Parts: sequence; C-alpha cells; structure tokens
Amino acid sequence: MTTVLDAGPAATGSTPALSAGMGFSLTDEQLAVRKMVREFAESEIAPQVMEWDEAQVYPLKIARKLAELGMMGIIFPESYGGAGLSYIDYVGVVEELSRVDGSIGISVAAHNSLCTNHIFTFGTEEQKRRWVVPLAQGKLLGAWGLTEPGAGSDSKGTKTTAIADGSHFILSGSKNFITHGSVGDVAVLMAVTDKTVGTHGISAFIVDLHQSGVRAGRKENKLGLRASDTATLVLEDCRIPKENLIGRAGEGFVQAMKVLDGGRISIAALAVGMAQGAFECALHYSRQREQFGKPISEFQSIQNYLADMATEIEAARLLTLKAGWMKDRGLKTTKESSMAKLFASEVSVRVANLAVQIHGGYGFTKDFRAEKFYRDVKLCTIGEGTSEIQRMVIARQLLKG
Ligand SMILES: Cc1cc2nc3c(=O)[nH]c(=O)nc-3n(C[C@H](O)[C@H](O)[C@H](O)COP(=O)(O)OP(=O)(O)OC[C@H]3O[C@@H](n4cnc5c(N)ncnc54)[C@H](O)[C@@H]3O)c2cc1C
Repeated sequence: MTTVLDAGPAATGSTPALSAGMGFSLTDEQLAVRKMVREFAESEIAPQVMEWDEAQVYPLKIARKLAELGMMGIIFPESYGGAGLSYIDYVGVVEELSRVDGSIGISVAAHNSLCTNHIFTFGTEEQKRRWVVPLAQGKLLGAWGLTEPGAGSDSKGTKTTAIADGSHFILSGSKNFITHGSVGDVAVLMAVTDKTVGTHGISAFIVDLHQSGVRAGRKENKLGLRASDTATLVLEDCRIPKENLIGRAGEGFVQAMKVLDGGRISIAALAVGMAQGAFECALHYSRQREQFGKPISEFQSIQNYLADMATEIEAARLLTLKAGWMKDRGLKTTKESSMAKLFASEVSVRVANLAVQIHGGYGFTKDFRAEKFYRDVKLCTIGEGTSEIQRMVIARQLLKG
C-alpha cells in the first residue's frame, strides 16, 4: 500500500467536472518531502524506538535533527524561520514520523500546531519575532497548556489564574498532561483573568519555562507514546510581562479552540501514520508466519483483516488530507478536523488491535512492533479532545446549519 494518494488526475477519467475540481495526487515536491521524512525516520528513529520507549526518554537529539530539516517549523513562512510548507505537507510529515514512532509524531505536532501556531496566528509582530522565529527554527521547544486537573474536556473548570500587577501578570495554578512539560523551553498557557464570565474570562499567555515561578511537576508514566514527554506544569506566583498576553484578555479560549482546529488534523495524521505502521508490520508478518503448512496470509480471515485495515486507513488518510487541503485554503475546518480526528483515531485503534491479532501470541510480546502500536494509538482517541467530544463538535456544526 502506498502512503500517498496514488490515483493521479488521469484516474478521474471521463468525468471532466471531477478532474477539473478535484485532484488525488500529491505534487512532486509533496512526495519529496514525504520521502525525505520517511528516510530520516527509518534511519535515525527506527533503530532506537524501543530503547526510548522503555527508558521513557524524549530524544532531544532527534528534535535537533528535525530542526535541521525544517520540521520544527513546517507550516510557518520562511520569513519567520519556518519551512514555508503546506498543511498537506504537514500531514505527510506527521504521518511518516508516526509510521515509525508516534512519540516523535506527537512531539512535532504539539510543537508546530499548538504552541508555535498559537503565537503565529494570534500574536503581535513583536511576539512572532521574539518567539515564533526561534520555535520554527527549532532553537526552542514549545508546549501548550489548556488541560488542568479539574478542566479536561470542560475548560470552564480552568482554575489557573492570571492577576494583573502593574506591568506584569502573576500566574498561579497548574496545567497537567502537557506535552514537552518537562523538556520544553516556552509554553502558551491558558489562565483565568476574569472569573465572572466563564470561558470568556480565559486568556492566553506566553510563558518562558526557564523563568522563576514555573516548574515541571509530575512526569506521567504512560501506557503508550512513552518517549514523548508528558508532565504537569506548576505555576507559583509566576510573574510574566504584560506583553506576553496573546491578543486581548478574555480571548484565550476562543483562540485555543481555533488552534485545536489545526491541531486535530495533526492528531489525525498521527493516527493514520501509526495505523499504517501497524498495518505494514501485520502484512509482513502474515507472509512470514506459516501454520497448517502455508503462510497465514493465505487464510481468508487474515486477508479480510488486511483488506479492512488497508481500506479504513485509506479512508482516514483521505479525511485527514481533505481537512489539511481546506486549511491550506484558509477555510474553516472545525467540522472536518474533528471528523478526521475522530475517524482516524478510532481506525488506528481497530487497526492496531488487528495487527496484534494477526501476530497471535508474538503480537503480545515486545519482540514485534505491533505491541507498541497497540499501546500508542490509544492516545489518539483522547488527546486534543476525546472521541466523545469530537462527536459533540461535529454534531454542533451539523445542527447549526
Ligand atoms: C499523552 C497526552 C498528551 C497530552 N498533551 C496535552 C497538551 O500538550 N496540552 C494540553 O492542554 N492537554 C494535553 N493532554 C490532555 C488531553 O487533551 C485531555 O486528557 C483530554 O482533553 C481529556 O481530558 P481529561 O483527561 O480530563 O478527561 P475528562 O474530560 O475527564 O473525560 C473523561 C471521560 O468523560 C468523557 N466526557 C467528558 N465530558 C463529556 C461530555 N460532555 N459528553 C460525553 N462524554 C464526556 C470523555 O470523553 C472521557 O471519555 C494530553 C493528554 C495525554 C494523555
């Protein structure tokens, strides 16, 4: 199975209206980006995946190498230190990294589409120069914090406060489950500036994670994506300059929701990539493993599994690319991002489950990669909004019309 849409314009055949309006092929440049990332992932990441997973260490050296390739600033213009690529490219990069290791995929996704994109989209020119440029160049590693112990799916529960004090805000509270929480350099954090107006009182702040008043708390010991860093950020009278407020006070929640519209496309790509990796392991194994005197790939049950896996992955990839394509055109993607994220993440769980099944008992051991995919994919149905929340978002969009 190819990892790109492989039916070129000619495949639309005798339907001129379709061929004029839709394309199912990637450009040579888009294919080249995918190829470059695939080669990088296979040579630089694959050999150490299990070592990092077992040690639960985030490989900072990989982030540095990805920065050299422009992958820490994929979607940002070159004038801001980025690679100036499209969302279609971004989807390809996250997919190819996650096909080998979802921990690296989620790191690139959180850095690009959450932290850096929040400042890039809503920050002032000065904030962009000060923060986006080094983030996009990969000189700084970014984190983004909306979640709190009492505010997961429901941000109304946000308790972290930001109190104005002269030329500063003083932030107090904690953010949990923060990707890059203990290894990041800078974070965009949401905090309450006005308790009386619910989510309209939440504001977004840029916080230098090396300054006093902010520290990493507990690092999570996770089921999967164990090489990605997930930690609590503790804010204790953390004084940050007023110029670190993003946009106006009270705009943080709406900004965060818009940031998640882009972020969810990258979680869909993370899911597609891991599903593709799990599928390829299962396909390979099914050809090698013999029972009843023949490869198990010759049994119809196994063939049905493989056919279902490949079909669902392709459908998930198409939804993800469609959302990316819309984003590249500046269209609103709230519904499409959630559809892609919901479908791709649930597909990844089904595919990884079947990949273990096809491996039989060996799939239950750490000798085969299916086991790791099975653990890693589960995050996709939870992070950046659970499947239940995606259904709420989609339904709300459907019922609006
Ligand atoms: C590895 C990892 C990395 C993460 N990285 C980040 C990060 O970088 N930044 C960040 O801010 N957050 C991050 N998160 C947090 C993540 O976004 C939250 O875990 C997620 O939004 C769910 O919140 P919760 O865990 O509090 O679950 P809860 O909100 O407590 O949900 C528990 C269950 O209740 C369901 N539920 C809740 N409300 C409803 C409802 N109204 N209707 C139906 N069902 C409902 C949920 O779907 C879920 O099944 C990360 C999480 C993980 C595991």
